[in-house]
Amino acid sequence: MFTPENLIDTVKRFDEKIQTNKDYLSELDTPIGDGDHGNNMARGMAAVMETTLEGSLFDEFKTIAMTLISKVGGASGPLYGTAMLEMAKASKETNDPETILRAGIDGIEKRGKAALGEKTMLDLWIPAVDALKEGTLTSELLTTLTDNTKELIATKGRASYVGERSKGHIDPGAMSSNYLFQSMIEAGVFAHE
Ligand code: ADP
Ligand code: MG
Repeated sequence: MFTPENLIDTVKRFDEKIQTNKDYLSELDTPIGDGDHGNNMARGMAAVMETTLEGSLFDEFKTIAMTLISKVGGASGPLYGTAMLEMAKASKETNDPETILRAGIDGIEKRGKAALGEKTMLDLWIPAVDALKEGTLTSELLTTLTDNTKELIATKGRASYVGERSKGHIDPGAMSSNYLFQSMIEAGVFAHE
C-alpha cells in the first residue's frame, strides 16, 4: 500500500534515477522529439526535492503534482502533474496502489487524449498496472514494457511529427515512467504485508 513515508522514499529514488539518467532521457528524446525530456524531468524533480513533503498522502501527491505542473516545460510536466493530482484525489479514499495508479492513468488519458499503443508513457503505465493486478509486476517486466515501445509508431505528442520514423526508438516518457515504477518497487509500495 501507499503510505506517506514510502511515497517520500519513492520520490527520492525517482529523483536519483532521473538525475543520473538525465542525458540518456534527453538522448531518447532527440531522434523522435526535441531532446529535452531529461532536462524537463530533472528540473521538475529537483524542484520537488526542494519542497517539504509532509502530511497525508493527499498533501504529498498534491505538492508533487503542483510542482511538476508549474516547473516542467514540455508535455511531460502537465501529464505527470495531472497523474499525480488524480492520484492525490484517489488517495483520499484508499491507499491501494492499483486503484491510485489507475486514477493516474485516467488523468494522463484525459490530459493527453492518448490511448494504449500510441507510443507514450501510457504504454508503460497501463500494462504495468495490469501486471500489478495480476501480481506479475517486476523490474524485468518494466524493462520489457519499455523496450516494447520501440515497435510502436507515435500518433500523439511531438514524436507523432516524425510518424513512421518514430519506429525503432524507445519512447522517452515510457523510460522515465519505468524509473517511477521501479522506484515504487524499491520503496516497497507493492510489498504485501
Ligand atoms: P515535449 O514533447 O513537450 O518536448 P517531453 O519531451 O518532456 O515533452 O516529454 C515527451 C514525452 O511525453 C513522450 O515521450 C511521451 O511519453 C509523453 N507524451 C507526449 N504527448 C503525450 C500525450 N498526448 N499523452 C501521453 N503522453 C504523452
Ligand atoms: Mg521533448
